[in-house]
Amino acid sequence: MLFHVCCGPCFARAGSLLRDEGHDVVAFWYNPNVQPYKEFEARLGAFEEVCRAEDFPAIVDDTYDPERWLRDALEADDRCEACFRDRLTITASLAAGEGFDAFTTTLLASPYQDHELARSLGEEAADVAGVAFLYRDFRDHWKESRKRTFELEVYRQKYCGCIFSERDRFLGEPPVEEPPNRVD
Ligand code: SF4
Repeated sequence: MLFHVCCGPCFARAGSLLRDEGHDVVAFWYNPNVQPYKEFEARLGAFEEVCRAEDFPAIVDDTYDPERWLRDALEADDRCEACFRDRLTITASLAAGEGFDAFTTTLLASPYQDHELARSLGEEAADVAGVAFLYRDFRDHWKESRKRTFELEVYRQKYCGCIFSERDRFLGEPPVEEPPNRVD
């Protein structure tokens, strides 16, 4: 089972739940949406600490390409949909290429994420790559998972990931439509 991990706090319980069910879990880091770089580094560090503490093998794709990510986000009708699709497509493709039976994601663990969007895009990515998507509603275990990260003293982020979500944390949603991406 290839388990895409958006952050250590969401994985701390979800990974062991699947392992307890008998799955052979490999954790996978791919989150180019996390900005700026120091935040990316802190979250990747937390992911690695959780994997070490819970004894999960890990694969890391540490792509950090804000130019590409921001261009795609600004061109998308819905940046969160594009962001989920990117991460789930890469995960599904790796799972298929490396011969995993299935993949899943911690995007299904956070009560702050669009759960149905994660589910439908996971299924879509699975169909395209030709590998199974394992759906679970991990949200019931989210508090337990965060508690585990307190015990492990790993970094816990304060916003979703991109610079827009960092802005929204402090300022809330922008009061007017954002300016156009380019001047024609
Ligand atoms: S708010 Fe979160 S899900 Fe949406 S684009 Fe930003 S990082 Fe991705």
